[in-house]
Amino acid sequence: MSRFLNEKFCRLEAYTPGEQPQDKKYIKLNTNESPFPPSKGVLEAVNQDAVSQLNLYPDPECKELRETIAKHYGVLAKNVFVGNGSDDILSFAFMAFCGKNSNAAFPDISYGFYRVYAELHGVPYVEIPLKSDFSVNAEDYIGINKNVFIANPNAPTGLTLSLEQISKICESNKDNIVLIDEAYVDFGAESSVNLTKKYDNLITVMTYSKSRSMAGARLGFAIASEAIIEDLNKIKYSTNPYSINRLTNLAGIAAIKDNDYYADNCKKIVEVREYTKSELEKLGFDFTDSKSNFIFAKNGKIDGETLYKKLKDKGILVRHFSKERIKDFVRITVGTKEQMDKLLDAVREIL
Ligand code: PMP
Repeated sequence: MSRFLNEKFCRLEAYTPGEQPQDKKYIKLNTNESPFPPSKGVLEAVNQDAVSQLNLYPDPECKELRETIAKHYGVLAKNVFVGNGSDDILSFAFMAFCGKNSNAAFPDISYGFYRVYAELHGVPYVEIPLKSDFSVNAEDYIGINKNVFIANPNAPTGLTLSLEQISKICESNKDNIVLIDEAYVDFGAESSVNLTKKYDNLITVMTYSKSRSMAGARLGFAIASEAIIEDLNKIKYSTNPYSINRLTNLAGIAAIKDNDYYADNCKKIVEVREYTKSELEKLGFDFTDSKSNFIFAKNGKIDGETLYKKLKDKGILVRHFSKERIKDFVRITVGTKEQMDKLLDAVREIL
């Protein structure tokens, strides 16, 4: 830390992203990326012609991209905001809607960035414990009178809330924002997108990083009332109006047009997830009923950190969290069947 750092950031504990080691080639099952490449349309869109125009700034409004997303989800372009990864949108939401008098609430075990953004933007927050089975207790958020941030499916548990539960949370917190982070929704949860037409306090956030195989392009989007989108734009235009670069913009449009390819990949991932669960069960693992592209699992014979380390030695990366309540677990991203068979072989050897 230099002596110049603003005092308010001195104690900030930054988010730790999943490791991306470059020392050798690993089977990467640690950051919930898709094992499949982007669609043909995306590869064609990001062509030499597009690259040759990188001397020009991109469209700050991302008009065509927003229109394409809007059409796909049955909303209007004025209800769509696009950001540099959904992380950016989450940060903007904390900035725009939370403050000293509008606190935040989120589960104690969830996406680690919610806490980091609350700290970064000086927002008082409460972390609400998950139930003992790791599910979110929707009742805890009814009339809570705070801005609510919930990942659905939740990470790293993969457990879901129903639309009925989400509706009740929106309904009972009319003067607060309810942000539903649907990074993993395409692997088996129901999207709250349509509820944004009913509840003007609901923000549904999605990403291209998981089901649409574009983690490296950094693209996420939010769907909400026109007024909320205007507020997010105010933050964007006060920080970086050109947050979506030209290539990502084109790739984002093409990916929506190739929806069938991605839907098919999601189906494959769900099948492999269920196959992997059944094999892990035979090996004595316990896990949550994940509706996501990862499995959150533990085995009484080996602690989470040791399993993570031994797998890494064997060239397979999974994610381990040191937080007390979940330290016995590892989070395993669902890859291809071949990758999961290698993982299962490695686990058998380790056990
Ligand atoms: N939300 C959740 C629950 C996540 O797990 C992630 C990915 N780590 C994100 C949001 C952010 O994804 P991205 O910025 O790549 O869109």
